[in-house]
Amino acid sequence: MSLAENDRVSTIGDKGKRVWLYPQRVPGRFGRARTAVSGMLVALLLVAPWIDVGGHPAMQFDIPARRFHFWGMTLMATDASYLLFLAGLVVFGVFFFTALFGRVWCGWVCPQTVFLESIIRPIEELIEGKPSERKRLDAAPWTPQKIAKKLAKWGAFLFVAGAIATTFTAYFLGREGVIEAQLHPTSHPVGTATFLFLTGLLYFDFAWFREQTCVVVCPYGRFQSVLMDEDSLAVVYDVKRGEPRGKPGTPGAGDCVDCRRCVSVCPTGIDIRKGIQLECVNCTACMDACDDIMLKLGREPGLIRYASERATKGERPRLTRPRVLAYGAALVVVLGLFGASVWQRAPADVHITRQVGAPFTVLADGRVQNGTRIRLQNRSGEMRTFTVQVVSPADVEAVTPMASVQVAPEQTEHLPVFLVRPDPHAATGRTRVVLEVRDDHGFTQRVEHEFLSPVPTAEHAS
Ligand code: SF4
Ligand code: SF4
Repeated sequence: MSLAENDRVSTIGDKGKRVWLYPQRVPGRFGRARTAVSGMLVALLLVAPWIDVGGHPAMQFDIPARRFHFWGMTLMATDASYLLFLAGLVVFGVFFFTALFGRVWCGWVCPQTVFLESIIRPIEELIEGKPSERKRLDAAPWTPQKIAKKLAKWGAFLFVAGAIATTFTAYFLGREGVIEAQLHPTSHPVGTATFLFLTGLLYFDFAWFREQTCVVVCPYGRFQSVLMDEDSLAVVYDVKRGEPRGKPGTPGAGDCVDCRRCVSVCPTGIDIRKGIQLECVNCTACMDACDDIMLKLGREPGLIRYASERATKGERPRLTRPRVLAYGAALVVVLGLFGASVWQRAPADVHITRQVGAPFTVLADGRVQNGTRIRLQNRSGEMRTFTVQVVSPADVEAVTPMASVQVAPEQTEHLPVFLVRPDPHAATGRTRVVLEVRDDHGFTQRVEHEFLSPVPTAEHAS
């Protein structure tokens, strides 16, 4: 029994077999704009780990050193809160923009769409020709010419997959690391395995899986319907204007001439005239295709256009809805907190801890000593020299093995500091000591420590 056309995924045939698509590439204003955006995104993605900004790769997740270089800013393990802010920005950003603009991410920014539409399909067309030629080639027997074309195409796909995988691995291993991993696999087995795995995964996607990633695998495609409502922007067919369909000149017919051009260009093989569907990645190809037909017929373009469902019903769309306001407010709050924390980010991080062992020592001359260790993290890009002094109480002295300590950029040093108090009976066990750490660039931070002394006995108390 075959399923009704509306009840099945367009790329899966009656017997569950994949229906291979041959979408036409269509010129048009949206296509040109998407090509420009894709070019910028691909350049940004491929360039970021290979160029230096502020002495480091523009972007690198240096996991062994627990550092993240981001366009001149270096975040360390102690800056984990920034990653929370970034995660919050991504989550609320996706919520907000999906509620307003629907699947604009899928059509314009998603790497799957960008790589497939701006690199893979043009390569395929260059080697195997237009969709009708490709269909004939696939159906033809394996001749030397077909084998040569297929090998050239698969080789090109493999090269692109390898280049992207190399760049992606460089985001983690750095430039030298990824080259080392490729030239000497045994020195970087994890890096080499990551590169090979990604190359294989991308090649599988480019050569065979393609639109199935969006239709079957992608989780965002599944939950975007929860984030959108009747007022969200989407690629829609204007039913009122288009129906009933009919050839030009048919009395009473709407604007749709049923040429099926919108279906022939769709990379997921759907017919947008059936309404908004999960498979639609809002790539705008059908908009360009239909505009082309409308202009040739001397009709207004926009039979398929960006609009909300409400607008196509002739109602006025609402921009300010509760979900848009809530997502927008959350986005502004997270953005504000992130901006404030980056603005106030100190160039150094200072922590004081008690040395392990005895909590205090009574020296031969009767003074009491507490051993501490000050951790100095230089978060800046220049060498800094740190000194430590006691602020209060006045009778506590800080003794260090060196007067100052130099800390290299983005490095951490530990300075042993012995706090000494002359009169063991001046305090009753615990005293709050305030220390000040300074550097030679104007940085100052106060840290507190609890000084431990022997508890006075009854004899001393009297
Ligand atoms: S391209 Fe336009 S006119 Fe042609 S079938 Fe699609 S909606 Fe109708
Ligand atoms: S229906 Fe139109 S916008 Fe949606 S995926 Fe197909 S061609 Fe792209």
